[in-house]
Amino acid sequence: MPGLRWTPTTPDHDAMQLLPGLERIVGADHVLADPAVRAGFEVDWTGRWRGVALAVVRPGSVDEVAEVVRLCRGQRVGIVPQGGNTGLVGGGVPRPAYAAAGVARREAIVLSTTRLSGLGAVDEAAGEVVAGAGVTLAALQHHAGSAGLAFGIDFGARDSATVGGMIATNAGGIHVLRHGTMREQLSGIEAVLGDGTIVRRLEAPRKDNTGYHLPSLLAGSEGTLGIVTAARVHLVPRLDHRAVAVLGMAGVGAAVALAARLRRMLPTLEAAELFFDDGLGLVVRHLGGLRPFSEPQPAYLLVEVADVADPEPALVDALAELADGEDAGVLDAAMAADTTARERLWLLREGHGDAIGREGVPHKLDVALPVGRLEAFVERVGGAVTAAAPGARTIVFGHVLDGNLHVNVMGPAADDEGADDAVLWLTLELGGSISAEHGIGIAKVRWLARDRAPGDLAAMRAIKTALDPDGILNPGVLLG
Ligand SMILES: Cc1cc2nc3c(=O)[nH]c(=O)nc-3n(C[C@H](O)[C@H](O)[C@H](O)COP(=O)(O)OP(=O)(O)OC[C@H]3O[C@@H](n4cnc5c(N)ncnc54)[C@H](O)[C@@H]3O)c2cc1C
Repeated sequence: MPGLRWTPTTPDHDAMQLLPGLERIVGADHVLADPAVRAGFEVDWTGRWRGVALAVVRPGSVDEVAEVVRLCRGQRVGIVPQGGNTGLVGGGVPRPAYAAAGVARREAIVLSTTRLSGLGAVDEAAGEVVAGAGVTLAALQHHAGSAGLAFGIDFGARDSATVGGMIATNAGGIHVLRHGTMREQLSGIEAVLGDGTIVRRLEAPRKDNTGYHLPSLLAGSEGTLGIVTAARVHLVPRLDHRAVAVLGMAGVGAAVALAARLRRMLPTLEAAELFFDDGLGLVVRHLGGLRPFSEPQPAYLLVEVADVADPEPALVDALAELADGEDAGVLDAAMAADTTARERLWLLREGHGDAIGREGVPHKLDVALPVGRLEAFVERVGGAVTAAAPGARTIVFGHVLDGNLHVNVMGPAADDEGADDAVLWLTLELGGSISAEHGIGIAKVRWLARDRAPGDLAAMRAIKTALDPDGILNPGVLLG
């Protein structure tokens, strides 16, 4: 990956002329040029991706964002949009590849959305709310909850990940099987395109077939087409009664089959997560997780049901019925209904990212497979990795009914991509997608053309050129 060989540079003198203009737009307090202050914005969550920004700019309104875009466009300075900086493919931090990406200058600013944190009143009749791009997932969940509703997306980075970042990456998470991905939560959007144009449609009714659906276009665009400043999102019923079970399973095939059967039996099924003993061991070691069973299991399946009334009896009945089947492969089970016990079980799965990070800087691959091929993938991926990177450790976990596995490889140096390539080749061989949730970012740019057809890529490039004519939005990301 060439990006990893570039040495971060110091912004050049010419580009420093931009700062007074930025200060006039957003105020001097919101242009952060001091290297020590910028530092946290210049490295990603994993520590694998880093660069140098000319400055971190924090606009407080859509109009300020548009002015910043126009100023940067005039000076051919790139803009890296950044929300909570929890992205895992290097797309939200600066990189010194701007000249290579067709931008005249090397520098870029980080445009932080943290001040775009307004939340509108919940429209209870429509079941929708308008949220600023900088609103965190946790804040949105809390806001919806206080109106007796909930937001359909949830995942471990909820305290930092933002609405804008979730749209830009089309985030998924643990409730996709019930509510879909971020794209499916969008009703309207406000954004600034690469030429400074503001697009805004935040008040339209839910049924709105009036041409191209811009929220869908911006979802998954990774900051390359527009800077999202606000969105109108759907809310779902708040389901306060929950039950969680962790099941020791005979293998991946058994876990997939059981989860699929549970989905047919229980419309209340909200999450079905897969993990293995090596990852569980790290959560126990680093985060104080408690092993659910006395013996290690070949695979672990965590399922959660949620309803307006206690869903535990239905889960117990369904599990009893299924586990009785000869081929069910259920070896052990632990159940929790009260909040503390549920959180204890969830930690075993949600703690994976954090626990892995404490072992070192991982290579994080996020792939999707046809669900029927998950077992073959899990059987082969460890061998494929060690063949490419002897001694590397591979920890796998994921969202089983989405066919989505997070493959974490530990051991290879940050710029050694042999193991990454092995995982992605195996994914394509089995008919999968090289990105299920995290996007392409910088990490997988050279892989995009192996996954998408030439016609698809040409259409994407045409859209990029139309909406960001000078290529200033997140240069180098997604299309390279
Ligand atoms: C512990 C952990 C667990 C995670 N679990 C999941 C999971 O289950 N499912 C999942 O999908 N992801 C997961 N992620 C990845 C990450 O949280 C998501 O990709 C999230 O959507 C990123 O949001 P952010 O605000 O942090 O975006 P950032 O990291 O700041 O940016 C991500 C990308 O979006 C762009 N961007 C950010 N804001 C905007 C904006 N306003 N307009 C245009 N572009 C923008 C950036 O340029 C970058 O390309 C996890 C991450 C961590 C650290």
